[in-house]
Amino acid sequence: MTKPQSASVKVCKIAIPVPLHRLFDYLPPDDVDSSQLKPGIRVSVPFGKSCKTGVLIEICRHSEIPNRRLKAIEKVLDAQPLLSQQDMRLLHWASRYYHHPLGEVMATAFPVALRKGKAAQGQHEKAYCLSEKGELVQPEQLQRAPKQQAMLALFQQSSTPLNAAALSAWQRNWRGTLKALRDKELVTETRLAVIPAPPTPAQPTLKANPQQQQAIDDICAARGEFAVFLLEGVTGSGKTEVYMQVIDQVLQQDLQILVLLPEITLTPQLEQRFRQRFAAPIVSSHSKLTDNERLNAWLQMQQGTASIMLGTRSALFTPLKNPGLIILDEEHDSSFKQQEGFRFSARDVAVVRARNLHIPIVLGTATPSLESLYNVKQKRYRLLHLPKRAGNAIEPKFQLLDIRNKKIQDGLSDLLISEIRKTLEKQEQVLLFLNRRGYAPVQMCHSCGYVSRCRRCDANMVIHYDENRLRCHHCGAEQSLPRQCPACQSGELRSIGLGTERIEKTLAELFAANKVVRLDRDTTQRKGSLENYLQRINRGDADIILGTQMLAKGHHFPNVTLAALLDVDSGLFSTDFHSAEKLAQMIVQVAGRAGRAEKQGKVILQTRQPDHPLLVTLLSKGYQAFARTALEERRLALLPPFSHQALLRVHAMNAEAPQVFLNAVKNVLTAINPGKTLVLGPVPAPMAKRAGQFRFQLLLQSEQRKELHSLLDRLIAEIEQIPESKKVRWSLDVDPVDL
Ligand code: ADP
Ligand code: ZN
Ligand code: ZN
Repeated sequence: MTKPQSASVKVCKIAIPVPLHRLFDYLPPDDVDSSQLKPGIRVSVPFGKSCKTGVLIEICRHSEIPNRRLKAIEKVLDAQPLLSQQDMRLLHWASRYYHHPLGEVMATAFPVALRKGKAAQGQHEKAYCLSEKGELVQPEQLQRAPKQQAMLALFQQSSTPLNAAALSAWQRNWRGTLKALRDKELVTETRLAVIPAPPTPAQPTLKANPQQQQAIDDICAARGEFAVFLLEGVTGSGKTEVYMQVIDQVLQQDLQILVLLPEITLTPQLEQRFRQRFAAPIVSSHSKLTDNERLNAWLQMQQGTASIMLGTRSALFTPLKNPGLIILDEEHDSSFKQQEGFRFSARDVAVVRARNLHIPIVLGTATPSLESLYNVKQKRYRLLHLPKRAGNAIEPKFQLLDIRNKKIQDGLSDLLISEIRKTLEKQEQVLLFLNRRGYAPVQMCHSCGYVSRCRRCDANMVIHYDENRLRCHHCGAEQSLPRQCPACQSGELRSIGLGTERIEKTLAELFAANKVVRLDRDTTQRKGSLENYLQRINRGDADIILGTQMLAKGHHFPNVTLAALLDVDSGLFSTDFHSAEKLAQMIVQVAGRAGRAEKQGKVILQTRQPDHPLLVTLLSKGYQAFARTALEERRLALLPPFSHQALLRVHAMNAEAPQVFLNAVKNVLTAINPGKTLVLGPVPAPMAKRAGQFRFQLLLQSEQRKELHSLLDRLIAEIEQIPESKKVRWSLDVDPVDL
């Protein structure tokens, strides 16, 4: 007969960062009082052969698993939960919405140091304070040691512990005296959290123009309540100035501000502008910081010792002691979408977070995403418009350059070359944009037509002459550049197509007297090199700036007056319905780099499709008009935001397994589908093979978000029962942005 389980036995449900859709049961640790087991604390638990850091979700009386088979929590890592109930609620929501395991979602909220189980303790320094004995003793009792007497008096007058800096300020040679007082046990050592010193601001607030003032007033009027503002303004229209004036008012209420940016390279620029403006402690969080620096920044927001955090996507979940405002700049930028593991949209989750916290959120951009414009139309977001460039900057002029039948030299038409020459003669800078790095995307044999393909991917190898190599941009495979065709041994290998490296060489020949700077992932890989290049450009130590999308983002090049997109056509023909929107945003963003100061800029688009409706609408009527047309097209095709999608991606080493698995998934879906959700596929992924893995996908689309999500819930419950699921890796992407 089995003994009935004692009612006092409790089971802890732990969220562990592993890709399984469930919580794990553990027994409470023997040596810990159960009152310490508060939901939200981190715990260290044995898992498989190792230990993992998890989060305690709840305590239950029963487990499905017999108690004797349960392991105990090894260590309780936090005395108090680090995340507030609100934050936990948000993470639960995100786990449900994205159908992603709670443990992995929770891990995203913590900085790496805390994920690894480190103590939640920020940067500390030594400081000194009176012992009990020291508090009682009269300084006169130290009459024969006047230095010690004076130092004791100093401690007795001070209300806080004193650190080395404070003691040095009092007297230069304080160490000996301190040692004497410590030997007498009058003073003891303690630890003091290092709190970021608020900067001393030097920049005055500018006088806002009427549109800016309207935006500032509207946002500030919504303080203390949930509201989403879409702040639309071209580059240079003064959005950052609006942010700063709103932040100023939020700071006056002693509330905190979370600012999210798409790129780490933009963080230092903005941080510097903020430091010149605010006398408040500012921290930043991005991948170039050390684990400890990020931990400190996180804890300072959590404890309320810092007021402003600037960070990238991963800073979204930083706990805020006194939340006041969220700002998300360049809201259209696709880097706000995490594309691996827990695939979430930082923009969408930030809006939900603001709603939970009852605070306003500002989404800023020159080129709003179609989703956000739709939300404005539905009156869920409020549009604030800054129509003109602030200050004296003038709008750039656009020109569609028809290159059909024109002489063209390595991607540069004669007309463009002469425009570049004219600009350089005026001592102004030129910016050339081509979204393809390397020398050329294809190496082909002139004798037999052989093309160098990646063995592991469905892709061509890209020529990198500088390193004398062929590289696959999808899996990293590389080899030295062949001199002879591997198929027919001919020496006639040709470079087909253009990359930034090739344009750089052409420019060096055409403009030998000028300095060319190339900015792409190959030239900026080393830490700090992008910053160096940017400084060089702003010093005027570069005449032609050539680069990939890296250039389109936010950087300020005041002396650039000519910007050219060398190849817009390749963006016009894509199977992904997002591509028109992305291309339009890219064009406007690149244009935003030209003529930001008092000089008028010119933007040239080389194309063989000068009558393409997208280009014509965009250039003759502007981004808003383009967006209206694009939204209308989406409405007619019932594409997002007029429907909701989820993409099931599958890959495996075996060529057949993904399709077999997805066929089984489709059968399950047909059985449980109440009817309205479309199940499209399975089809091979746009890149059917990558890094040796065969890839397939299945798209689900519904006009009813609720219906789609309940279908996904039921599917996930069943998917692990499908026998073929053991032979593949699958992941679900809710609201996918690349199909
Ligand atoms: P955005 O963030 O939209 O690109 P910024 O806020 O950086 O625009 O402003 C662009 C430039 O215009 C900056 O140099 C800024 O100092 C200046 N500026 C912004 N607002 C004003 C204003 N109200 N008066 C004068 N100059 C302004
Ligand atoms: Zn050949
Ligand atoms: Zn490859």
